[in-house]
Amino acid sequence: MARYHINPETGNPNKCSAQAGNCPFKSEAGDEATHYSSKNEARAGYEQKMESQGNRPQELKPIVDTEISPTKADGTRNPKFFTKDELTEINAMEVDGDGFVRLREVSNGFLGEQTQYISRYFSGVNEKFPVLVEGLSYSGRPNDYHSYKLAKSDVPEFIARLRAYRASVFQDCR
Ligand SMILES: [Zn+2]
Repeated sequence: MARYHINPETGNPNKCSAQAGNCPFKSEAGDEATHYSSKNEARAGYEQKMESQGNRPQELKPIVDTEISPTKADGTRNPKFFTKDELTEINAMEVDGDGFVRLREVSNGFLGEQTQYISRYFSGVNEKFPVLVEGLSYSGRPNDYHSYKLAKSDVPEFIARLRAYRASVFQDCR
């Protein structure tokens, strides 16, 4: 079964390729660092440990995928790309007079997730999450996630960044 550890320098969860007992990452006591059964659990364990020690966990850094092929060598989908149906769905999103789409349409509508969670990637909402809207046109107030809107023309880029970020962190490329 795959094991996952945290790189203590970056705070990023990664798949461990060492045999059990041979991982280069050690605990303070000198034995092998704690391993987990998923990237999610590894990151959660790391955050819990840092917080229990009164330290701030390092932020997860987004890695934007710049590959040009819609399918990667290992058969998984490149997070930058959309299926025809997805593009149709994005094109059908309702806009206001300024060409903006309510974030709710992107989150609940397209991604199937609560707007509250998706708003964490906007500036000033939650410092534990990376800002994924840099250079995009949007409006909204950080204390009112229902107020967020994104320019329709920037919706694909926002979703692509979110997918690339998640793929880099959780291998969860939807
Ligand atoms: Zn390891």
